[in-house]
Amino acid sequence: MIEVSDFSKTYDEREAVAGLSFRVDAGDIVGLVGPNGAGKTTTMRAIAGILRPTAGRVTVAGFDVVSDPVPAKQRLALVPDDPHLFSSLTVWEHLEFTAEVFGTEDWIHHGERLLEQFELADRRETLADELSRGMRQKVAIVCAFLHRPGAILFDEPLTGLDPRAIRTLYEAIRESARGGMAVLLSSHLLGQIESLCTEFVILRQGRLVVEGTRDEIRAQLGELRADATLEEIFFTATEGTSLPADRAEPDLP
Ligand code: ATP
Repeated sequence: MIEVSDFSKTYDEREAVAGLSFRVDAGDIVGLVGPNGAGKTTTMRAIAGILRPTAGRVTVAGFDVVSDPVPAKQRLALVPDDPHLFSSLTVWEHLEFTAEVFGTEDWIHHGERLLEQFELADRRETLADELSRGMRQKVAIVCAFLHRPGAILFDEPLTGLDPRAIRTLYEAIRESARGGMAVLLSSHLLGQIESLCTEFVILRQGRLVVEGTRDEIRAQLGELRADATLEEIFFTATEGTSLPADRAEPDLP
């Protein structure tokens, strides 16, 4: 559903991501993890078509996000790490606006169910400006699910959500993935996403270090116990003294 092929992004002189390739198939819940500045948000923004790759290609459901953006974006939703709502629209008007933009039909019942699910039903007529931070985040999440996209990207979705909202989000993600949605989410809360994600893509300094299921990654890294946690895997992968040879960073001039 999402295919990132040899993707690179350079901001001015700074190489943020280099030669990154991975895919997220229908039904997968992939955790994109890495230290601060590893390139997670850059990768998410490129998949969403907000940011143009310096090199490489990103497709959503087979549509190139640069050369064929409309069908790609119709099949995708992004919940950014700091979602911006329209201050003069109510919660329900955000749903109406989203449905209009995506040309979604028969969304009212689905929208009402999502508001119930995320405990926003009593805030339906509240202006975005009058919501708490976590509530605004939940509105962005509800809007992302509303048009039933084939793929959803969540950039740091857990920050700001209360435990119940996190549980609701997990249930919604699992249910959607069972229905064939591809999910890519980034988080630093490794203990929280460990049981949710079916696979992981670990980045370090803009490069792929390792990817796969937890067991596949453990096997590739070699030096780990069979019951190593995602956090232990993370430290081994991102603080190891060497990257795999084909992913080694170039020598500095
Ligand atoms: P974090 O975990 O801190 O959110 P991240 O993995 O999401 O980090 P990115 O935000 O993708 O990382 O940043 C990757 C690199 O690109 C960093 O070195 C960052 O300084 C740089 N970068 C990101 N956005 C820009 C920008 N708009 N202009 C210049 N450099 C940028």
